[in-house]
This record gives sequence, C-alpha cells and structure tokens, in this order.
Amino acid sequence: MADFVMALDQGTTSSRCIIFDKNGRVVSSAQKEFEQYYPKPGWVEHNPKEIWSSQLSVMAEAAALIGAKADDMAGLGITNQRETTIVWDKNTGEPVYNAIVWQCRRTAPIIDEITGRGYSGLIRERTGLVPDAYFSASKIKWILDNVPGARKKAEDGELLFGTVDTWLIWKLTKGRVHATDYTNASRTMLYDIKALKWDPELLQLFDIPESMLPKVYPSGHIYGYTDEDIAGGGIPIAGVAGDQQAALFGQCCFEKGDVKNTYGTGSFILMNTGGDVITSKNGLVTTIAAGCEEKPDYALEGSVFVAGAAIQWLRDSMRMINNAAQSQDYASGVSSSNGVYVVPAFTGLGAPYWNQYALGSIFGVTRGCKKEHFIRATLESIAYQSYDVFRAMEEDAKVGIKELKVDGGASANDLLMKFQADISGCTVRRPGCIETTALGAAYLAGLSTGFFKDRDEIKNTMSESSEFIPDMDETERRKLLAGWNRAVKAAIFWANNE
Ligand code: ADP
Repeated sequence: MADFVMALDQGTTSSRCIIFDKNGRVVSSAQKEFEQYYPKPGWVEHNPKEIWSSQLSVMAEAAALIGAKADDMAGLGITNQRETTIVWDKNTGEPVYNAIVWQCRRTAPIIDEITGRGYSGLIRERTGLVPDAYFSASKIKWILDNVPGARKKAEDGELLFGTVDTWLIWKLTKGRVHATDYTNASRTMLYDIKALKWDPELLQLFDIPESMLPKVYPSGHIYGYTDEDIAGGGIPIAGVAGDQQAALFGQCCFEKGDVKNTYGTGSFILMNTGGDVITSKNGLVTTIAAGCEEKPDYALEGSVFVAGAAIQWLRDSMRMINNAAQSQDYASGVSSSNGVYVVPAFTGLGAPYWNQYALGSIFGVTRGCKKEHFIRATLESIAYQSYDVFRAMEEDAKVGIKELKVDGGASANDLLMKFQADISGCTVRRPGCIETTALGAAYLAGLSTGFFKDRDEIKNTMSESSEFIPDMDETERRKLLAGWNRAVKAAIFWANNE
C-alpha cells in the first residue's frame, strides 16, 4: 500500500520535490537551483537538460531522505513555471534551442505585428488572454523562424513542443507520452479555452504545425507511468497543473467566487469562476482552473508586478531594513503610515490600470515622516494593489469576495495580512502549510489515483490556518482608499505628462 504522493514543483529559479502523506503533510523535500541565461538584454533562457537533471536529482534526494521507493508513491504530480517554451527533436530527444522563459521579451515585435493586423479580438475571444510575448505562441514561432532547419523539421513532423510539464512528462516516460493539461495549454495562446482544442486559426496565424503540439487532458488524469530506469518503478503521473492554478487548487478554492493571492516577488491573484468563462472589462485574463473533470472550471487572473519586490527594494536599495521580516518590526512601531503613500510602480502599473510608463512615486511626506512610516506605507502598497485587482474581479464576476486565501513569502507578514483584511473588508486565511503549489499538484495526483477519495477528504487534510479578521472603521477605510486612489492617479498623471 502506497503511503505518499510526490509533487514535482518546477519553478523559474529552482526545481523542487516535495513528498506528502495521506494527511497532506510534508514528509520530505529537496530543492536545487539552476542557471538563468541572459544572452541579450530582455532575453531569458533555461537549459532544458538542466531543468530535467535538477528535477531528477531532487526526486531521488527527497525519496532517499525517508527511504521511500517508487512503490511507496501512489502517484506523482507536476506543477511548473508556466508559458516557458521548449522544442525538441522527437527522435533524438535533443532540444533544438534553450527553453525560452516566460519573462523573455524577445518576441514582443511578433506580437506587435500580429496585433497591428487586428488579431487582438480573436486571440482574446479564443484564448482568454491579452496578446503578449509572455505566452508560448510567439516563442514557438521564434524558434521555428530562427533555429536553422527547425521549420522544415517541424513541418516534417520531427519536432515536438512542450511547456515544462510536457517536457518532464516526456522525459519521465522515456518519450512515450507527449501531453499537457488544460491549465498549461490555456497559457500557450493557441488553445481554444471554450471548445477545449488547439485552435486551427491561431496555429495558422503563428505558423505552427499542429503535429508539434501535445495531447491535452484534465489536470487530474493518469498521463502515463514513470519509466523503471528513471524512478525505479512505474509511478502513475496523475496530476499536472501550472503553478498558479495548482496553488488555487492547493488552497481548496473549489467553489465559484473562491480567491487566492500568492504574495511572492509579484502577486498572483486567481478567482474560481466555476463553469463561467468571464471576459474581463478590467484587463484581467481568463484561464482554465485545475480539476479532474473533462469539463473544467475557469478562473480570472490578475497580477501585481511589484509586491514582495518592494520589500527587497527597501532592503537592497533604500537600505532601510536588513531582511524582509524586519519590515514588520518597523511598521509595527507606528500606528499608521501617517498619510504617506508609496506607489511602487517600478515597471509600470498592471491590472486594472495598465500604464506601462508609470514610475514609482511617493506622496504625503511631511517633516514628521519617519522610516517606520515609509516602511509601513510600502507594505500597505502591496495590500492596496492587490485590493485593486480584487475589486476588478468582483466587478467582472459579479460576486463579492468573502474570504481570501493567501500564500507566498510575503504572506508570512502578519501586519500586511491584517491590513489586507481591513482594507478589503474580508477575512484573510493563511494555511499552516504554505507549500500550496506543490500541495495542489499532490492533491490532483492523489485524487486521480484514489489516494484521496474526494475533495471533501482533501479539505479535511488542510492544516490549521491563521485567520485575519477585518475590524477597521468603515470611514477610516474609505479615507485610506481615497488617498491611495489619489496617489495612483497622480503617479499616472506624472507619467503621462512627460
Ligand atoms: P518568489 O516565488 O516570487 O521568489 P517567494 O514566495 O519566495 O517569492 O517570496 C519572496 C518575496 O517575499 C520576496 O520579495 C520578499 O521580499 C518577500 N518577503 C518574504 N518575507 C517577508 C516578510 N516577512 N514581509 C514582507 N515581505 C516578505
């Protein structure tokens, strides 16, 4: 009888493996960083072989730490950095080029050309996405157009495309399975999220042969079995989901209107919208949520570019703190930010403002402003920016958010979480186990192998959580929000009147 499920968490900077038991508890984990390549300004690449070797080594390490064998694993789940694009030779298994990472901007001109020809509406309608170089489509096209001989080989059916999940499944099964899941497919900008198929018109638009594309299945599904030589036995690969959707699932956001926010370098906010495909009027994207059903749920997604990164800025550039946790100590030293607002628009403003020229701005500084106020205002900006996205989601989905599930590095900050609850007027819940991304993949793998009976059983395994309950006076809340809105408007005014 297998006692565990194994989750592979293949992120942008490291590969991790976490093993969970039947109670959803972490019993072992291992992590390995890998190299980032920046061949030109704005270009970001990974070596697909390093992704694979680092992932393979942490799998072995995590299992060895508890003396577990393949037979002890009921299933294996994969969660991954999304959109990152790999193209390899079907016969030799050799990648034809490095992985082009989601952050890479090299294909922006391809997107400009396509949107210039008036295709934005079609892309939005079919894929739920706002056309951008971020998604896989233009990255595949770039490889086919720029790697000598690649286009001819692709047309001859000799090349395969995959996001990182697909690459790992292919390697784990020694080339027997070429597949992905709905959530990853929905980030390629080639997948029709309503019809649930690769879209022939978009494939033509980006000039991509359909033979390169993986088969698409629900996130919870038995994709195949790990090869004996690789894992010492055949573990069912039974759950696959892109990182943000895996976190939504790992937070048990199973119902329509459930929302999670991951506070990392940036913040990623997803709302489950059930079977409804909602087109945002506020610049959010529509994407497929993870699940085990043939007919998936959908989600609205919005992100804040600078969240925890603002705290890194306080530490590394402002040198006001020595480490991220200290931000809470200083901020607690004052009872408010005393009218100071920091708008950390270092790289422009995302949803719902979408102003790529906005710059970081600071308002309301008086002679009485101390470092404590400044730090507090910076922390508060993370909550304000997230709240702006929540409001956009509520408006688009026409549901009120009653509770917010949180995770990610900066969710450890109690002061920030309490302020988030106060400013949003909803309860904020932080699980005891903040490994929600890996947990989501483990839940999916556990459900499709019968290790977990159903979603109710999963909910019961959820660890003790911390709860932050709003108790701010409504007049105060409105006053603070009005100040924030004024600060954002002023930051945009500054940018637009150069
Ligand atoms: P990522 O996955 O994007 O690397 P993590 O989830 O590891 O991010 O979170 C790291 C981020 O969280 C950093 O930007 C850091 O500044 C921020 N952070 C970590 N601890 C705290 C804290 N106690 N208070 C505020 N921010 C924090």
